[in-house]
Amino acid sequence: MADSDSLPCHLCGHAHVEPLPEYAALRRVTSDCKPWAAGGWLGVCRACGGVQKRMDAAWRAEIERVYRDYTIYHQSGGTEQPVFSAATGQGKARSKRIVERLVQSGLARERGRLLDVGCGNGALLRACSRLLPGWSLAGTEINDKYKEEVEAISGVNVMQVGGAADVPGEFDFVTLIHVLEHVPSPAEFLASLKAKLVCGGNLMVEVPHYVDNPFDLLIVDHSTHFSAEVLRGIAVRGGYIPRVLATDWVAKELTLVAEPAAAKALAPVAGEDLFPRIRADLRKRVDWLAGIAQETRELAQGGRFGLFGTSIAAMWLFGELDGRVDFFVDEDPTRVGRTCFGKPVLSPQQAPAGSRVWMALPTALAEQIKVRLEPQCSNLEFHVPPALG
Ligand SMILES: [Zn+2]
Repeated sequence: MADSDSLPCHLCGHAHVEPLPEYAALRRVTSDCKPWAAGGWLGVCRACGGVQKRMDAAWRAEIERVYRDYTIYHQSGGTEQPVFSAATGQGKARSKRIVERLVQSGLARERGRLLDVGCGNGALLRACSRLLPGWSLAGTEINDKYKEEVEAISGVNVMQVGGAADVPGEFDFVTLIHVLEHVPSPAEFLASLKAKLVCGGNLMVEVPHYVDNPFDLLIVDHSTHFSAEVLRGIAVRGGYIPRVLATDWVAKELTLVAEPAAAKALAPVAGEDLFPRIRADLRKRVDWLAGIAQETRELAQGGRFGLFGTSIAAMWLFGELDGRVDFFVDEDPTRVGRTCFGKPVLSPQQAPAGSRVWMALPTALAEQIKVRLEPQCSNLEFHVPPALG
């Protein structure tokens, strides 16, 4: 173990990444929402504060297994997961929300060229096609699984199987939506994309925010877990000047818009208190997750038990409970009526009377949904995760 223990930080190259041993006991989940075994490794860099996996041979072998049968949004038959308003229960596709905010910010002009790196099945490009109709669109992906689907989107002129460097020309926007958390060397990767931007062009990055959403730490194929200060540091190290760094474009996520710096910027100097502060904060979140696993195991034994949600948090808990769940509850109409790992997906109104329902969401979001649903579902017992404190 000594060799892999000494792997340097993949964000800044510093020699020492401090492990958090408690993490290994937690089950995990894949980014396409499938339960995964315990036994992972999580640490914090002493220099840059980056929370990360150890990308050793064992981790790479696991990732290969994850990607071998990767399915985007298997719970809804391929439809993008909506971002629900906790207050109303109304969903809006995440990509539509991001492009709307981009338009509102005034950063996207009437016409231009946009390249979406790691475009998946084209969710962002589809939103751009509707909301930025004058734009010429391009996408890249590592395989041709969704090539035809993406090429059929109005405005898409290039769908490249390969990397951004293989796409001809320069762009006004290069977007990375839920890509950077999978990339082995994020700062170098961002630096390489500068060549694809026109003068005055912008990079946009969307990543999960583990500080608001600790369930992100459980995702086996996320090599980096971002906080705002670490994302800012990576952007500066990659040669960019951040223009927007927001937590409110999409709930539980970080949005960065940055322009290339004229000269090579100096890497930001982390404050002396950064490492102990981030480590303490991370330990609190890992303990919180372990507490939830324990609490749901006890709750699930006392009669009919359901999990609210069919995404990351719910699928992680489904694994922690060894599948001993009677049903899932979801408000997403594309998921209700289906089954998920053999269990029915019910609307809140369909859940059997007297059931206990665990809200597999960050606490504040779960509270809001509970308050809204309780009057309509008085025969259900909703359970909310404890506050992080
Ligand atoms: Zn580091």
